[in-house]
Amino acid sequence: MPFNRPEIIRPPSEHDSYYLPLTSGCSNNTCGFCAFSFTKLGIRDLDEVKQEIDAMYLYVNNNIMMPGQPDIVYYILSRWNGRKIFLQDGDALVYPYPKLLEALQYLNGKFPYLQRIASYATPQDILRRSVDELKALRDQKLGILYVGVESGDDEVLSHVQKGATHDQMVEAARKVKEAGILLSVTVILGLGGVKGSEKHVAETARILTEMDPDFAGALTLTLIPGTQLHNEMEQGRFELITPFQSLQELRTIVEKSSFTNCFFSSMHASNYFAIRGNMPEDKAKMLKQLDMIIARRDPALLRPEFMRGL
Ligand code: SF4
Repeated sequence: MPFNRPEIIRPPSEHDSYYLPLTSGCSNNTCGFCAFSFTKLGIRDLDEVKQEIDAMYLYVNNNIMMPGQPDIVYYILSRWNGRKIFLQDGDALVYPYPKLLEALQYLNGKFPYLQRIASYATPQDILRRSVDELKALRDQKLGILYVGVESGDDEVLSHVQKGATHDQMVEAARKVKEAGILLSVTVILGLGGVKGSEKHVAETARILTEMDPDFAGALTLTLIPGTQLHNEMEQGRFELITPFQSLQELRTIVEKSSFTNCFFSSMHASNYFAIRGNMPEDKAKMLKQLDMIIARRDPALLRPEFMRGL
């Protein structure tokens, strides 16, 4: 089956990377809040991946455009600084292991000065790999994995069909860290709805503490038409929290979680208010900012709905 190149969806910190597709869609396409839940996993042929790497090499070194490559390849290359690669798509770590290793070896062979390769990964993808396999990928410059944790509450995880439990995600984090790969996680404010809010944040603070990632980002739930949670909201079975409730959830997570050394932020466009800082040293400052905004209850201080993004 021909491989359809996915649209570019990547973490903000990968803005200057070259986006190299290994897969399309997501292997765990069940999550009840996610745009990827509409997708079917596609696995790209390794030869096709290598052809794109060859095209990258020719363009970067000789300014030659290889026939047959789509325009997007040259658009990305025209602004690429040669340092970072982001492997598309929703969980490129699912790419069959020997081929993934070969793809990274091929990349490093063509671009020996790469600084870092990055990928999204599901907890299941990580658990499928041994620490030695992860270390072999790290030796090929896989330097960071982005994992959607969403919630630490098993009830919420099961409700949204995340396909992984609290304990499984903690174990996945342990393996990533033991392999020497940076771990970046995201959690979703509001994912428990109004009814499950208290437990969602308590358990999310607990899982963040247990996973102890290098980077943690909070997103705010935005309902996408056609997804499970959107349907439940329309049927009155799921109640969205308000913007100020989302700030209260964020405050509780910041207060109750504890990290060794983590850059924590709510900079994502889905959030109503952005905070950022290094944990643990900036915790008090971040709590103060949140307390101030929660106390003022002034909607003008929040990101307006029309400026929020997924
Ligand atoms: S695992 Fe991640 S990318 Fe895949 S459907 Fe769930 S939230 Fe979306």
